Amino acid sequence: SKEDIKSFLRKNAFIIFNISAVVIGIILGFTLRPYKMTYQEVKYFSFPGELLMRMLQMLVLPLLVSSLVTGMAGLDSKASGKMGMRAMIYYMTTTFIAVFIGILMVLIVHPGKGSKDEFTQRQKIDQVSPADAFLDLIRNMVPPNLVQACMQQFKTQYEKRVIHVKIIVNETIFNLTNATQEIAQEEIIPKPGTVGGVNALGLVVFSMCFGLIIGNMKEQGQILREFFDSLNEAIMRMVVVIMWYAPVGILFLIAGKIVEMDDVTQMGGQLGMYTITVIIGLFIHGMFVLPTLFFVITRKNPFIFMMGLLQALITALGTSSSSATLPITFKCLEQNNNVDRRVTRFVLPVGATINMDGTALYEALAAIFIAQVNNMEMNFGQIITISITATAASVGAAGIPQAGLVTMVIVLTSVGLPTDDITLIIAVDWFLDRLRTTTNVLGDSIGAGIIEFLSQDELQINNLELGNAVVEE
Ligand code: ASP
Repeated sequence: SKEDIKSFLRKNAFIIFNISAVVIGIILGFTLRPYKMTYQEVKYFSFPGELLMRMLQMLVLPLLVSSLVTGMAGLDSKASGKMGMRAMIYYMTTTFIAVFIGILMVLIVHPGKGSKDEFTQRQKIDQVSPADAFLDLIRNMVPPNLVQACMQQFKTQYEKRVIHVKIIVNETIFNLTNATQEIAQEEIIPKPGTVGGVNALGLVVFSMCFGLIIGNMKEQGQILREFFDSLNEAIMRMVVVIMWYAPVGILFLIAGKIVEMDDVTQMGGQLGMYTITVIIGLFIHGMFVLPTLFFVITRKNPFIFMMGLLQALITALGTSSSSATLPITFKCLEQNNNVDRRVTRFVLPVGATINMDGTALYEALAAIFIAQVNNMEMNFGQIITISITATAASVGAAGIPQAGLVTMVIVLTSVGLPTDDITLIIAVDWFLDRLRTTTNVLGDSIGAGIIEFLSQDELQINNLELGNAVVEE
């Protein structure tokens, strides 16, 4: 009946809007592509998309801090300790599985054919020693200046685009569109290791300690607990507003990217095979491994759970940033999947910062691909080294566009592969980045579902002990 249709539409409005946004964005992008817009025109055209990025990023800082602080303060330390353990075990296990799939895929498909002829000369990339990179990771956990940690701004996609296109132009691998030639005139040169600070990591560590402390402060901590709780609530209400705008932004992000991407002329070759290998690897992890894990542990239908996440997954696809997607991930999990807020507040900010299955899979796969292109045989020890450094590199990568490409340097240097060869895969990275970001967000979300299920007892006890003081919405 009419009422049924109406209520169906209302319930599924977001899903319908978001799927339409992706479809229309793709169609619009390919329709406008032949017109070869200039860089300026592309910039104006994708402006609604840029606005979405900015809105989401605007909320990330207050959301991350307030949710972690209230999340920690709202649980007794035994419960948060147990939940934290479970989260860590889940993150590590799934990341290692992802790395394993990546390595297996690249060894089986063998997309690299031992020659660089297809790729013309490359650009120099600075060396970063793995030890320094590791120390940097730890350093970032302890930001000396909190205000500065908040201000290590996310780079906008435009700045990043300028960077990468610059390299591509130098290499003249591709038929350049007008748009890219114009971008090339901007004098921005990539500096691996400095693109995008790991601001989130430091804030996560600080917020967790802070939340733990004010949770134990009895009456003295009351004001602070209420403050952060109420701040969190207010931000979540702002997220609702942005969710209505998101489909528009996503449409233009996708269309804009399609309009300005380079014509990849050699997709039939090694780069094409490489792209397909990554896609299949991510697909196996996201559509098979994670859902199976979810089902085995919770006995719930993983695909219904994933339907509830759709808007978050599409936002990840559109923004290629798991940090920027965080607000939407929260809403999807809490609203559509009814995951307990004490769990989401606690695990999502940490997950978005350190748990990146897609990135880990990608980095391991890409490193071995580069070895194959160089005709270098990786022995077992080197493959183990790659697994470990790829995991570390995924933890260290910030949840911003193409951060994974930057931390690749660590993986490559650890086994003596030429870091300059990162530029071989830059051409397709913008696309693969979107897919691995979607996998990252999926991994975090399924993790929240699993951890909630495993923590039922603790949540029950905390419910009784705390009454509705802190946890009541
Ligand atoms: N863009 C990814 C993310 O935000 C990180 C990466 O480059 O792999 O999750």
